[in-house]
Amino acid sequence: MNRSLALFIIVLAAVPFLPTPEFWITLFNYIGLYSIVALGLVLLTGVAGLTSFGQAAFVGLGAYSTAYLSTQFGLSPWIGLLAGIVITAGAAFFIGAITMRLSGHFLPLGTIAWGLSLFFLFGNLEFLGKYDGLNGIPPITVFGHSLESGRQMYLLIWLVVVLAVIAVQNLLNSRPGRAIRALRGGGVMAESMGVNTAWMKIVIFVLAALLASVSGWLYAHLQRAVNPTPFGLNAGIEYLFMAVVGGAGYVWGAILGATILTLLKDQLQSILPRLLGANGNFEVIVFGVLMVLLLQRAREGIWPFLRRLLPQKPNVLAPSSAPALSTRARHTTGEVVLQVIRARKEFGGLVAVNDLEFEVRAGEIMGLIGPNGAGKSTMFNLVTGVLPVTSGEIRFRSGGTLERIDNLPSRQIVRRGIARTFQHVRLMPTMSVLENVAIGAHLRGTHGDISGIATSVLRLNRTEESSLLFEAKRQLERVGLGHLLYEEAGSLALGQQRILEIARALCCDPNLLLLDEPAAGLRYKEKQALAELLTKLKGEGISVLLVEHDMDFVMNLTDRLVVMEFGTKIAEGLPSAVQQNPAVLEAYLGGID
Ligand code: ADP
Ligand code: MG
Repeated sequence: MNRSLALFIIVLAAVPFLPTPEFWITLFNYIGLYSIVALGLVLLTGVAGLTSFGQAAFVGLGAYSTAYLSTQFGLSPWIGLLAGIVITAGAAFFIGAITMRLSGHFLPLGTIAWGLSLFFLFGNLEFLGKYDGLNGIPPITVFGHSLESGRQMYLLIWLVVVLAVIAVQNLLNSRPGRAIRALRGGGVMAESMGVNTAWMKIVIFVLAALLASVSGWLYAHLQRAVNPTPFGLNAGIEYLFMAVVGGAGYVWGAILGATILTLLKDQLQSILPRLLGANGNFEVIVFGVLMVLLLQRAREGIWPFLRRLLPQKPNVLAPSSAPALSTRARHTTGEVVLQVIRARKEFGGLVAVNDLEFEVRAGEIMGLIGPNGAGKSTMFNLVTGVLPVTSGEIRFRSGGTLERIDNLPSRQIVRRGIARTFQHVRLMPTMSVLENVAIGAHLRGTHGDISGIATSVLRLNRTEESSLLFEAKRQLERVGLGHLLYEEAGSLALGQQRILEIARALCCDPNLLLLDEPAAGLRYKEKQALAELLTKLKGEGISVLLVEHDMDFVMNLTDRLVVMEFGTKIAEGLPSAVQQNPAVLEAYLGGID
């Protein structure tokens, strides 16, 4: 546990035992309740990039579940908690499966839609007391102590906050957490590393809803009454405000945002009506102005400014040794690994890849060259499942046979041993170099998505984590970036970012490596080091398919070349022969130097 968290806990625990006025206890209780919901939004919105205005509805599900069961059937609040969790998980799974598919602003609009629906549902159901709600909710009992007063509830509420902070931090600094953080990158990179992004979005949506639901449970037993008002769209917007104001990308941002907005609201509600001489929710206007200012001046929220005052240290450290991960069997040198059969890709009327045919053999470095726009990157996207072929077949050797892969999604293709880098680097700029590369090792962890999350939250994943991080460090050292493990990836020079992508691809333990312009932006020495590395990989039986414009680099390194122009193969063969080919010289206008 880190020192700031320990200090935070000590200060918190002291509050109810000091002569703190009741008023402040109440305020703190609300800050705690809001923090739990905002923490869910940090995961969902700040980390995974999925905006939701509807979290208040899940608070309502948690609150109404326990309220109904405890008032109508006299069941224990603890059973109410369980029921709330089960009901919320079910509802969130259902809603998430529908809304998480929406993209752009349709997603937030979708969350508004179901947020409103649940709100009206609470208000219209007879057995939930319609808009009057349910009264006479019993207090929570812990080890025979009944938590009747706000002061007694305080400790439970903040215990939940602290546990939620620890759980979310544990999750984020682990294999599933890295996969979740990679969602922000838009999905192509994460899928290429084996992450099932659609499923991960639903899982994260359910987790955020569960945090909201637990907050609702605490709320119901603190208030001892529920009605629909606090679970409407207004509240949903305020929760999002809290996360964004505090810093939606940071665990502590949630608590900071909940604190600031709760205190501010309390002050404004007493000051503004006096100032304006009229009653009304004027604080909403101030919040709106605050939000606009923030979006212009500090998109990351307020926490990053405070964080700068604290000592910086890496989220995760690579161990100096760890049990090795298992590796896949290499192919026998010389056998066909990749077979491209009349592969075609059309974008509207444009034929980007025109019935292309070639093969890559085990332990060979094959170059794919051609002028800009020839279709090389598109070819990579076809092989890795980023784009579907218009027609034709692509086969890859796995388990002894050449298996068709052109109908598989990216994450299934990387699972079979094809890893890639991107021409336009795709990495998570605020994550450390080490963590970025560890995303590549995603498929080498053994847990499923759900059990992976559970073990990470409970920190039962230490052995696997150290193996994954050790592998990431090993690959970084291998490509010559071992001295930059804890730098932010975005701070690296572009050439280094490309090399980082190679290390990430190597973490996939590939049999075929696709490199899209890896030497662009490298200095002479760095290019030499890259050439050495690729030769070494070849020696290990890994095949490489290389797109590169630096002709010296290509001619010295590759075993064979395929030359493309306007989507069509115009030449194939040994580099020395291709270099003399008139069609190739023609395509390159003035020849290859
Ligand atoms: P290269 O990598 O050889 O420079 P690309 O594969 O990037 O070439 O592009 C080949 C052609 O396909 C270009 O004309 C490009 O504009 C077009 N193209 C590539 N991707 C897309 C896309 N997603 N939608 C439409 N056209 C595309
Ligand atoms: Mg390209």
